[in-house]
Amino acid sequence: MNALRRVIVSEVPCMAIDEVVFLENSSVMQDEIIAHRLGLVPLKTDLDSYNLPEDCTCKSEFGCNLCRATLTLDVEAKEGTRPVYSGELTSENKETMPVSDKIPLVKLAKEQRLKLEAYARLGKGKDHAKWQPVSMCAYKYYPKIEISKKCDNCAKCVDACPKKVLAKKEDQIEIQNLEACNLCQDCVAACTEKPPAIKIGWEENTFIFSLESTGALTPERIMSEAVKTLDKQIKEFESQIKVKKSEET
Ligand code: SF4
Ligand code: SF4
Ligand SMILES: [Zn+2]
Repeated sequence: MNALRRVIVSEVPCMAIDEVVFLENSSVMQDEIIAHRLGLVPLKTDLDSYNLPEDCTCKSEFGCNLCRATLTLDVEAKEGTRPVYSGELTSENKETMPVSDKIPLVKLAKEQRLKLEAYARLGKGKDHAKWQPVSMCAYKYYPKIEISKKCDNCAKCVDACPKKVLAKKEDQIEIQNLEACNLCQDCVAACTEKPPAIKIGWEENTFIFSLESTGALTPERIMSEAVKTLDKQIKEFESQIKVKKSEET
């Protein structure tokens, strides 16, 4: 599970702006800061149409249509002070657009102008966090709660639980929200019975995996790409072990 989480965070590629050419910037913000902000704007990623720059056949530092998408921005504050939003970027590929068009990039005062060309490329989270396809990725064991017959329904455990997992019913304690349990054991510590009438454990080989996409890829695609990468890495590892063995013999 942790290997899968690590692959998602550092190996599953997504698109991000990597290079910006400023044609005009009369805003108060330096080019570098605007370029940094642009890099952090999550872009919808068309994984099937683009190559990672290092794998592309063009082998060009500048890139080609298969490893680079160009976005442009040309905004002038004609009427008065106005913010510039991510939605004002124009892309040569409609599949490579900001996930949200409401991300503020900079504020322009009257007559200030921002004109630029930005190049988006596929990349991996291990090189820069802007290429991470998830904003959150974590897992926990699947909880298992057992309440023994010694329980006298005093409800001390119900009050002690910070996640409201337990509820007091007429003549028994009921588990109403099992998946919210974080295995903290507060209920066990609060139990008046000795030994405690409530036992907290976890299911073997069952996990709750939570993944929140930035919007670059669907969560299903992120997971399937991660499984593919992990599979490839395991095979590579296996082949290296075989090489070692044959050297020894
Ligand atoms: S282990 Fe913690 S979260 Fe789980 S039921 Fe007990 S008190 Fe609640
Ligand atoms: S604190 Fe212990 S005895 Fe009281 S209701 Fe909970 S499990 Fe039962
Ligand atoms: Zn290329």
